Formats: sequence, structure tokens, C-alpha cells
Amino acid sequence: MENFETLAIRTQSERSKNNEHSTALHLTSSYVFDDAEQMRAMFSDEVEGNIYSRFSNPNTTELIDKMCLLEGAEAGWVTATGMAAIFTTFAALLSSGDHILACRSVFGSTHSILTKLLPKWGITHSYVDLNETEKWEEAITPNTKIIFIETPTNPAVDIIDLEWLGGLAKKHDVLLVVDNCFATPYIQQPIKYGADLVIHSATKYLDGQGRVLGGVIVGKQELIDEVKLFARHSGPALSPFNAWIISKSLETLAIRMDRHSESALKLAEWLEQQSEVELVKYPFLPSHPQYEIAIKQMKAGGGIVTFVIKGGVEKGRDFLDKLQLISMTANLGDSRTIATHPASTTHSKLSEEERLETGILPGLIRISVGLEHIDDIIGDIEQAMG
Ligand SMILES: *Cc1c(COP(=O)(O)O)cnc(C)c1O
Repeated sequence: MENFETLAIRTQSERSKNNEHSTALHLTSSYVFDDAEQMRAMFSDEVEGNIYSRFSNPNTTELIDKMCLLEGAEAGWVTATGMAAIFTTFAALLSSGDHILACRSVFGSTHSILTKLLPKWGITHSYVDLNETEKWEEAITPNTKIIFIETPTNPAVDIIDLEWLGGLAKKHDVLLVVDNCFATPYIQQPIKYGADLVIHSATKYLDGQGRVLGGVIVGKQELIDEVKLFARHSGPALSPFNAWIISKSLETLAIRMDRHSESALKLAEWLEQQSEVELVKYPFLPSHPQYEIAIKQMKAGGGIVTFVIKGGVEKGRDFLDKLQLISMTANLGDSRTIATHPASTTHSKLSEEERLETGILPGLIRISVGLEHIDDIIGDIEQAMG
């Protein structure tokens, strides 16, 4: 048992006495000890076991074990949200005076953590455009402790060569942390290329049906030990119910990502032929500036397509208002196709100048291609562009 699909389906926590086939849901805050000696041994970490669900729970443990296998990681942890995973990682690994080097196009709330929260504790950051590879090395300072990136980025779908960046991080003894939310481990496994930690918003493709929030951190054992120490005592725990949902969802991750990617490629190819469209970005379109890197490190293009509609903000908003099937909502990675206008939603906290620097043009629209029939998805987009 070593193939991705099988691991995603068959990795399971121990069955209860009822011998259920699907994993049981363990809604319990704490666990009973057999005797005083077992309680003492567990509290002193001499014996492994469940004590309290802020520390561990069979459902969160199953999700951690599965994500480690799928990402090829030694160890992991899960959190209540993707942002909790990102904040926990920074808080656990950084001290006052440390510096984070990040790609400029990080997720909106990650940007807020870097610019508004971490400076309170003396942790600084700087940004480099993901695409400007010649600038990464010179941006590393003696205090740089973490390189933090997303690839593909949101919403510009830019891509960086993970093998190259992994080598650069190693050369400078800096940790490489990758937010792998857009690709998922089915499409890209950053640890293979030298990432020390991989982070997910499980809210997106890992759940894949827009139901629950969750976060995942996997990677090197010694780093996860720090993450665990912070998380056990500060409490960003994932609820067992959400862990159960996400773990069940992973059983269909491969088949979902194949379909998301197949439909997204069809949509991207169709958009490229439309006269109303100024620009289309999708990793597996040969016109993508980093197409060669994409096909080297990604198994498929993923479900996100971005395009710029001619006519700026006004035309962009008009397009969104005319959509009938496709939802206007802040999420992505759902079975339902979603359209967003990053300039007025996810990236609205950035200044106009910061937005343009990040490649977020006023008419830019991001489509998270869902699992509906592709003809219906394209049909809705076609009528809304008219
Ligand atoms: C959504 C998202 C997050 C934040 O995850 P939440 O589960 O909403 O907290 C972080 N990074 C990326 C790339 C995301 O898309």
C-alpha cells in the first residue's frame, strides 16, 4: 500500500469495539485513564495516548497521519483554520528579531499577519515577487529564518521552481515553508523539493465541498515538535468533527483534483479564444510564463483559472452580476464553481498600489472551477460576458 489514492482511502485510526468500517466520530473532550499509574505515565509523556482533545483526538490523529503520508512528511499537526496553521507556524518557530522573506502575493490574511501582527513582537518581513528569481538570494538577510511562499499564487497563478528555491533555502540555512493550498499534495509535494514545512488551508480542496474550516502543518519532526508545543498550550485545535469530515474528503481528493484540473484546462483554453478576454493565466496553458516549471513540478494544472476581462472594474462587476450558475462567494476549492473579484474581496485590505504590485488588475477575475459539467460552466461564463 503505497499509492496516493490507496493511502488517502485506507489510512485509518484504530477501530472501536463496534468494528465500524468508516472511521467513528470521537466527540469527547477528554479520555479516561485505567489507573493512576497510566495517568502519571501519559502526563509525563512516557506513554503515548489521548489525554485531552486540545492535545490529540483519534479523528485529528487520523487526519495528521494521512496528510503526512500524502505529503511525504515525517510529522504533522492540524488546526482549526488555515490561518491558525500559518500563525501557529510563525509563532512556534520565530523569535523577536527574526525575519520572514515571503512572496509578495501571499494570501490576504497572511499579509495582515506579516504587516500588522508580527511587528508587535519584533518579527519583520520583506517581500519579493515570486517571478523575480534573481532577487530572492539578495533579499535573504542574516536574520532571515523562514522563506514563505505559495505556488501557484493567489490570484495571479504565478509559479516558482520549488527545487531551485529549496536549494537556495538550504544554502543559506533558512527554513522553506510552502502554503500548498492551491495545488494539494495530489498535484505537488513540496517536501520532495526541499520544503521543510507544508501548510494547508484544509477549508479549500482538502474538504472540497465548502463545509468546514481546517488547517494542516506537516514536515520535519523537530519543527513539528515546536509547533505541537505551541499549539497544545495556546489551543488552535481542530474540532474532531471537522477532522472527520476532512479525512473522509481526502478519500476522493485524487479523483476530484483530476476533474477540477481537466475542466479548468478546458475553460482556460476556451477563454483564450474569446475576444472579450485580455489575458488568461493557467499553469498548464503553454502561454503561462512558467509553463515549463509547472509541468515539471505539478501533476496537473489545478482548479484555479484567472483572467482579465476587457473594460476594467465596471465590466468585471457587470460580468459577476450576470452569472446565474456560478456562485459569488469568498471560498475556493469547492465542488461548486466560484467567481471572485480579488480587488474588491480577498485583497481589498491591500492598497491600490500594493494590489497592482501583486498583479491584481482591476478587471481580474478568479474562477475556482468546480465539478459541475464543463459545458454548463462555460455556458454561464459565455452568457455573462455577452
Ligand atoms: C484560504 C487560504 C488560507 C486561509 O485559510 P482559512 O482556512 O480560511 O483560514 C491561507 N492560504 C491560502 C492560499 C488560502 O487560499
